[in-house]
Amino acid sequence: MIVILEANLAQSSDEYRQVRNHLEKLPGITLREHQEFGIEQVLTEFYLIGNTAALAKEEIENLPGVDRVVRISEEYRILGQHRDDHRPTAFTYNGVTFSQENLNVFAGLCAVDTPEHVELMLAALQQHGQVCTRMGAYKPRTNPYSFQGHGKSCLPYVFDLAGKYGIKVIAMEVTHENHVEEINQALQQTGNPTGVLLQIGTRNTQNFELLKAVGRQRRFPVLIKRGFGITLEESLNAAEYLASEGNTHIVFGLRGMKTNMADPHRNFVDFAHVPVVKRLTRMPVCIDPSHSVGSRHSAPDGITDLLHATAQGVIAGANMILIDFHPHPGKALVDGPQALTLDELGYFLEDVRIARAAYEMRVSLAKSQH
Ligand code: PEP
Ligand code: MN
Repeated sequence: MIVILEANLAQSSDEYRQVRNHLEKLPGITLREHQEFGIEQVLTEFYLIGNTAALAKEEIENLPGVDRVVRISEEYRILGQHRDDHRPTAFTYNGVTFSQENLNVFAGLCAVDTPEHVELMLAALQQHGQVCTRMGAYKPRTNPYSFQGHGKSCLPYVFDLAGKYGIKVIAMEVTHENHVEEINQALQQTGNPTGVLLQIGTRNTQNFELLKAVGRQRRFPVLIKRGFGITLEESLNAAEYLASEGNTHIVFGLRGMKTNMADPHRNFVDFAHVPVVKRLTRMPVCIDPSHSVGSRHSAPDGITDLLHATAQGVIAGANMILIDFHPHPGKALVDGPQALTLDELGYFLEDVRIARAAYEMRVSLAKSQH
């Protein structure tokens, strides 16, 4: 059960103290407090854990200072979509809104290699009106002898250039909690020219200590990818780990499942789960066609599998696209074969626009049926 207090109710107020006292005295119930800082208001929520079935919802709702009470199922207590649950699905970070209603494109480098390539990428994004990108600094590689990413040494020039080209949010994977502090420091040293969406990669979806550490900080929102070899439920519980530590600004990413049934694709495209994640949770859903498809092959219709997969996710209501581009894919140190080139950026964005427009028409059509 979640008890949502009236907006901006101060912790020093009589109402707050009264509600808290009342809830603390309930037998067999433990309380967990969560504060959500919006642009205009602070929302305080109490999560009641234990045998809440016996509690009278109306009685708690009648306490002074309580806005409403939501009964929740056991699944995904914080992130879940529960019955009569009208908590928001959206958050805004550094001027970019993430929600189940809109769509943000994060095109960029799988791995940062040189300042020149970063600059070419960001300049192309600015030319096309884009304010988000992806830039990998810490790369989790299968082979210990492969390029591991430049790590913290590239952060200052990546952030400076992002500021120069008006980039507001960079999706950047972290593989260790120390990386969060390195990013924090580099942003401060460069004068906070941009923002970072911390990415938990598919190999770390169930790295619970990393999830707890990233969930404890509230400065950066998080993109958590689905684990490549676990169930959807297990991956959604991984996202709930982040939320249970306090950070609810989370986007859930689909990136395909590892199985040789996916051949010749790198992973089995799982974008039919976009609407499923939106139904079960309040998280915006990201698709990563690059790591799902893994190549640039085309169908006889002249459209690459990458763009087909992207369109499939977008027409199903995806809210974010993470996609690899590179100025010279042949020179990329990681994942060159799946990267699109900068002269394909305009075409890619137009194809996404068409798929999104089709999705919006489908939503209108569905609404006209009831
Ligand atoms: C990536 O996005 O660069 C990446 C490594 O993806 P994944 O964790 O999905 O393999
Ligand atoms: Mn990659």
